[in-house]
Amino acid sequence: MKSEARVVVIGGGVVGASVLYHLTKSGWTDVLLIERGELTCGSTWHAAGGMHTINGDPNVAKLQQYTINLYQELERITGQSCGMHVTGGIMLAGTRERLDWLKMAKARGRYLGMELELISVEEAAKLFPLMNKRHFVGALFDPIEGHVDPWGVTQAYVKAAQAAGAEVVRHTRVLDLKARRDGSWDVITPGGNVHAEHVVNAAGLWAREVGRMVGLELPILAMEHQYLITEDIPALKGRNEQLHCIDFEGEIYTRQERGGMLLGTYERAGVPWSPITTPWDFAQSLLPNDLERIAPSLEVGFEHFPALGQVGIRKVVNGPFTFAPDGNPLVGPVRGLRNFWVACGVMAGFSQGGGVGLALSQWMVAGDPGADVWAMDVARYGDWATLGYTNAKVRENYSRRFRIRFPNEELPAARPLRTTSVYESLKAAHAVFGDYCGLEHALWFAPTAAEAREDITFHRSNAHPHVAAECRAVGEAVGLLEISSYGKFEVTGPAATEWLTHIMANRVPQVGRIALTPMLNERGKLIGDFTLCRVGAERLFLICTWAAEVYYRRWFERHPPPAGVTVRPCAMEYVGLSLAGPRARAVLQGLTRTDLSSSAFPFLSFRAMDVGMIPALVGRISFTGELGYEIWVTTEYQRALYELLSEAGRAHGLKLFGGRALNAMRIEKSFGSWAREYRPLYGPYEAGLGRFVDLNKGDFVGRAAALEEKQSGGVLRLTTFSVDAGDADASGDEPIWHDGKVVGWVTSGAYGHRVQRSLALGYIPRALATETEGFEIEIIGERRKATRAAAASYDPDGGRMRA
Ligand SMILES: Cc1cc2nc3c(=O)[nH]c(=O)nc-3n(C[C@H](O)[C@H](O)[C@H](O)COP(=O)(O)OP(=O)(O)OC[C@H]3O[C@@H](n4cnc5c(N)ncnc54)[C@H](O)[C@@H]3O)c2cc1C
Repeated sequence: MKSEARVVVIGGGVVGASVLYHLTKSGWTDVLLIERGELTCGSTWHAAGGMHTINGDPNVAKLQQYTINLYQELERITGQSCGMHVTGGIMLAGTRERLDWLKMAKARGRYLGMELELISVEEAAKLFPLMNKRHFVGALFDPIEGHVDPWGVTQAYVKAAQAAGAEVVRHTRVLDLKARRDGSWDVITPGGNVHAEHVVNAAGLWAREVGRMVGLELPILAMEHQYLITEDIPALKGRNEQLHCIDFEGEIYTRQERGGMLLGTYERAGVPWSPITTPWDFAQSLLPNDLERIAPSLEVGFEHFPALGQVGIRKVVNGPFTFAPDGNPLVGPVRGLRNFWVACGVMAGFSQGGGVGLALSQWMVAGDPGADVWAMDVARYGDWATLGYTNAKVRENYSRRFRIRFPNEELPAARPLRTTSVYESLKAAHAVFGDYCGLEHALWFAPTAAEAREDITFHRSNAHPHVAAECRAVGEAVGLLEISSYGKFEVTGPAATEWLTHIMANRVPQVGRIALTPMLNERGKLIGDFTLCRVGAERLFLICTWAAEVYYRRWFERHPPPAGVTVRPCAMEYVGLSLAGPRARAVLQGLTRTDLSSSAFPFLSFRAMDVGMIPALVGRISFTGELGYEIWVTTEYQRALYELLSEAGRAHGLKLFGGRALNAMRIEKSFGSWAREYRPLYGPYEAGLGRFVDLNKGDFVGRAAALEEKQSGGVLRLTTFSVDAGDADASGDEPIWHDGKVVGWVTSGAYGHRVQRSLALGYIPRALATETEGFEIEIIGERRKATRAAAASYDPDGGRMRA
């Protein structure tokens, strides 16, 4: 084994092998993979090898497509068979809701270039004769599903990497990792130490243990997973390549394996394996079968596919594999550690492993993953994702693997975890809560405790009239919203503005003022949208997306502030309440000596002031598009502030409102939000944020690319549509059609209660951004007429928020 390498990849499962291959493909060939046993001896060797393109996040779906298309290339380069069987697959719907879901999956596949086809039960039965038709109402056919040989795929990656110069060492366990001052690592093994510039944790079932070597607790848990293979089935005699099939209602996947069928299930009573530590002596091992646990799923399976129940079981496999709380991989550089990368929590290694390797290698070599990988970025989790939280969420996610997640559905596991001091008061006001980064926040308010629950549906829910009333109150009088779930940073020091000028695209505001600003990467793409509030000459309060806090901190480490500047995350130190609506000024003015008239405290002002007895920071801004104030206090004052504002608001018709109403109102204003309209896929001019990019202030990160985008106009345009919707509004990821072709996709949608029409925001090609007519948005399988709006639907000139 060599003693120096540019990269050491820890783990020779399918993921580590893919990372190794992709590093060589990206031009780094001085790379070493260290495996403690044989290649594949973790979770890889006993996998069923199934692969599919569909994923809840379209960007992960794209990487899955990439993975599946890669196998042929690997076979060509290495001559090593990947054991590919591209049989095609059907997804069976047993209910109308599931059929709606399949229609939506097909629609989403359209703009990803997938050839998915909705078929009838009759057609499905012709393709998959083992099914009992009477349990199903329709199906979706995907021609590029299939399975591979896990060992063959891993070998192919490794052989291709070795041919390009990579080294692979087996039977050598990495015992420890020691950081050097220059950011490089000493990788300690019984066979000697390796000095590496970078380390990749691709240790699969042991990723937590390798993380702990560097003080990291990764939110990962392994679950036991069982599949069985039946004896030969007479009806399959002479047939091979029987389609892959997912039966959502049975929570079963199945495919032909030799003369029998392989049947796996994600049972509701899933069991974690080794919840705290993974034993090192587990290699090429399986777990004892527990058919009783999956008996309820098998019962349904044998009813839905009777031929499977009529033969014996040849083999049962029970093996563990890892999940992150949301089921997507954990990939990328880890905040707080230099040159330490992860590629773990990959629960579908044969659909995702290639895309994970590609993204990570580009990130390491070129400094950017080259794609929008937010959905699998390790930075989406913070310290709140403890082992206990992970355990609860992974078990929930496992049990729901084949269940529908409705757009308005909030999942119950690990709740309530974080609450603010107004939680009980909001609950007493019949709030229906959502969970955001583990924090309970009000979605909407029901008139009575009995009505404080929401029907989960693709259509408008029972919340609709109540959200309408909240929007009406904000538009006509005044609303009160808790805004604690916004991310916050405090930046202090003599060179604070100099640093912010360098990393943000807009100019830093004057003392007492607010500026909105995108943050761009070097490619000029959006990696954040911030509200910069200047409290003093050397003190700024930054408001942003909380879910991206770790992501931003990692970026700040890459572009560190100069000596003397402190950047402090303080999301839960400052909590907040927002007043919005034409009566907002009257409510707040009654509680403060500070003159709130528009001349003294105009739109985009920010100031420390007392509200009643409470010291607060107040910004004149509102995401609702109304006259509004965001009031920030340290936690111990929030309850008193809530009571004070509620009491003072009573005479002005104050009503509580929640996240649902806020979302509808920001869409009426065509205001984008992070991870929806603003993602690293888009440039600021494409996203309509060009007015917040100051190209004249001097150099800043992403300026050259932003200038180029401004001059060229970019490729896409964020656009607002009015939609002739039925009783379902767009919710995101629906295709946008123009003249019979899919031309774009929806990023957000809602019913705009103040303008009384259904609205959607989405990206279309710039060339179409001047067209008004000819658009359609496909909602639950129906193409609905959509009209492009040239400006925001509500108060387009912004007079109300400046009033
Ligand atoms: C029963 C079952 C069925 C499955 N079916 C499918 C399927 O149909 N399709 C699909 O896509 N996925 C399936 N999976 C999931 C799939 O197996 C995983 O996604 C995949 O194996 C993850 O690969 P990995 O490389 O991340 O982890 P692993 O395979 O666990 O690899 C990690 C490697 O790192 C090594 N290692 C760990 N620590 C060290 C150390 N300190 N030093 C050196 N080496 C170390 C380990 O020995 C191991 O070889 C299934 C899993 C199971 C259990």
